[in-house]
Amino acid sequence: MTLRRFALYTLLAALLAAGAAYWFRGPLSMALAKRVVAGRLAADALKDLPDGLHVGLCGAGSPFPDDQRAGPCTAVVAGKRLFIFDVGSGSPRNIGKLGFVHGRIEAVFLTHFHSDHIDGLGELMLQRWVSTSNSAPLPVHGPQGVEQVVAGLRQAYAQDQQYRVAHHGEVTLPAGGSGGLAQPFQIGQAGRVVVLKDADLEIAAFSVDHAPIHPAVGYRISYKGRSVVISGDTKQSAAVQREAQGVDLLVHEALSVPMMAVLEGGAGQAGRPQLKQLFNDILNYHATPEQAAETARDAKVGFLLLHHIVPALSLPGMEQAFVGTARSIFNGPVRVGTDGDFISLPVGSAKIDLGRRF
Ligand SMILES: [Zn+2]
Ligand SMILES: [Zn+2]
Repeated sequence: MTLRRFALYTLLAALLAAGAAYWFRGPLSMALAKRVVAGRLAADALKDLPDGLHVGLCGAGSPFPDDQRAGPCTAVVAGKRLFIFDVGSGSPRNIGKLGFVHGRIEAVFLTHFHSDHIDGLGELMLQRWVSTSNSAPLPVHGPQGVEQVVAGLRQAYAQDQQYRVAHHGEVTLPAGGSGGLAQPFQIGQAGRVVVLKDADLEIAAFSVDHAPIHPAVGYRISYKGRSVVISGDTKQSAAVQREAQGVDLLVHEALSVPMMAVLEGGAGQAGRPQLKQLFNDILNYHATPEQAAETARDAKVGFLLLHHIVPALSLPGMEQAFVGTARSIFNGPVRVGTDGDFISLPVGSAKIDLGRRF
């Protein structure tokens, strides 16, 4: 066979293979689905995790659209109990991608009522209800004002609830399991309140500085000797430093001032003065990565996970620019959070394991 003929046959064979793959891709994907779907539906990360405190990022972002970061959301597992802190846009789907069954969520905790922290809550309440036929509504803890958020969503979803109960029946979808149950708390004189406590687990809320937004809180979670602080939205805050003293993991919000200056300049050049003003306004109630690092250093935490990343980091290399000089301020590990980050603090050791779930 001549070289030319050989090349022609090779080309024809490649085209035939590509054609076959194209025509059979439907049946192939169905066969694959049959093999994996039961396994996926039976998966429940809660069953497989070792005893400890585990933190997964279901949303590392902010209101800025970011391909790698949904709106703010932190999943916390204490032993076999699953809690969600804030529920930003897109985050309920990420909770599933982390390997958790929505129906196993015991409660939600809100830091404040800016839209980016609650705009996935309606979807989350629905998923929790339908995924395991829950018969009681989802407890939603938060400072005063949480009642209004939960009542509003209940009203917005009232028709959907009726459709689904009528269609699937009370046994499959008990009407009483839809929506949420507001659990408001009040911060005491000391600037903190214990919201949930039993033999092994304590979840406390504390006031942070997100003025002019009141109330706004962060949370400290401790379980069998391991501990995590979630800052919520805040400027650099003495309260966060106090609560984070010696914790294993500090999940701290962060905003890059130089990057916001670029956006502000761009909005000015684009002739969008209103947007320029918005970009400028948000500078005064968030913390920079360097300030978060100072807090981590002064509180002697084990690991700093930057969260609520502002603005979106849409180009390669931007994470490095975002973090600025934070790594020279705090000697411990600093990570710019992305959705799917998963940090495990096993009980009975001082280990801090960073992994990725998707
Ligand atoms: Zn906020
Ligand atoms: Zn926010």
